[in-house]
Amino acid sequence: MVTRGDYISDDDWHRFLDFSKNLETPFLVIDLRSIKENYLRLHEAFPYAKIYYAVKANPEKAVISLLADLGACFDLASRYELDLVLSLGVSPDRLSYGNTIKKAKDVAYFYEKGVRMFATDSKEDLKHIAACAPGSKVYMRLLVENTGSADWPLSRKFGCHSDMAYDLLIAAKSMGLEPYGISFHVGSQQRDIGQWDDALAKTNYLFKSLDEEENLRLSMINIGGGLPASYMHPTNNLQVYSSEITRYLTDDYGDEMPEIIIEPGRSLVGNSGILTTEVILISRKNNTALNRWVYLDTGKFNGLTETLNESVKYPIITSIDTPGCKEATVIMAGPTCDSMDVLYEDYKYRLPLDLKTGYRVYFLSTGAYTASYASVGFNGFPPIKTYIMDL
Ligand SMILES: *Cc1c(COP(=O)(O)O)cnc(C)c1O
Repeated sequence: MVTRGDYISDDDWHRFLDFSKNLETPFLVIDLRSIKENYLRLHEAFPYAKIYYAVKANPEKAVISLLADLGACFDLASRYELDLVLSLGVSPDRLSYGNTIKKAKDVAYFYEKGVRMFATDSKEDLKHIAACAPGSKVYMRLLVENTGSADWPLSRKFGCHSDMAYDLLIAAKSMGLEPYGISFHVGSQQRDIGQWDDALAKTNYLFKSLDEEENLRLSMINIGGGLPASYMHPTNNLQVYSSEITRYLTDDYGDEMPEIIIEPGRSLVGNSGILTTEVILISRKNNTALNRWVYLDTGKFNGLTETLNESVKYPIITSIDTPGCKEATVIMAGPTCDSMDVLYEDYKYRLPLDLKTGYRVYFLSTGAYTASYASVGFNGFPPIKTYIMDL
């Protein structure tokens, strides 16, 4: 059984129960208090870094407004995210277009709206930026391959090899852009802190060689996301991440540290969410089967997308958890008529034997990549509803 107190304080739990008792499942409740705490904690852990919140993790207006008030900048992936953030009064000098996969007309749109910082990793995209966002700052995204230790890897699709980054930064200058820095993303929910060391070594090589050979001085390192939220697999705490990453940086740059950007998504909003589901049905597949199938009203298409390959293992508790109650292994599945809509089968969650249809099952740490990944209406199930618990 998951120990609730490992993930949420008694106070916050009861505040949540109070807030949500009359809401109809399934739903996601986001607690702004914990996002504020996470932001302040992150700021304390990386006092020298600018925080660019990766909006895709949770694009709720209340979340963006809160972070904007706290001083955050924003990493955007599309013109729709740009419109959203601008509509909340965030000025464009706090925005970066961090997606390396973009249409030329979208680059133009960002430029027109005042954004002057763009990520890139290819010649063609760089040409689009030079043509549609003249004079802007560009930073080169490095390919990081060794991401077996990330629960949700972001490698392969993004970034280019250091040698190509070198050439593209020189090309950027000749195209009238400002070659600004280097970025990477070591993979989301990255449990191996050494992955930052590897990426920073490549970064340092580029900083040095471009300076020495080309007289090109870069100004910025974007160390991406990847900091963890609390799920079933333990991770180091934030202080360990920050002291290690800070040590790598000071080893390389000493007092002349470039501008550092971090782009947290999961680590800022992950533990702010509780996704509440209801048991639709419990069954066994034959008369002597040991495993129960527990069908819930949330699945892969309406909020729990990151259970794909059982990648993210959320802490799960039920409305009848009591210390010492009898429990047994279950297979959990969602409500749709798609057989891939099975949440956990290999990973053996144990739920109380007394669990019944209609009881509530709570997925903790579901503030990131849940509502924003939900489908528009597969099988007619609407995307999951989000409710905000205010400060
Ligand atoms: C998704 C994303 C992030 C956030 O990653 P987390 O692991 O959730 O912190 C940061 N930067 C970029 C470019 C991203 O695509």
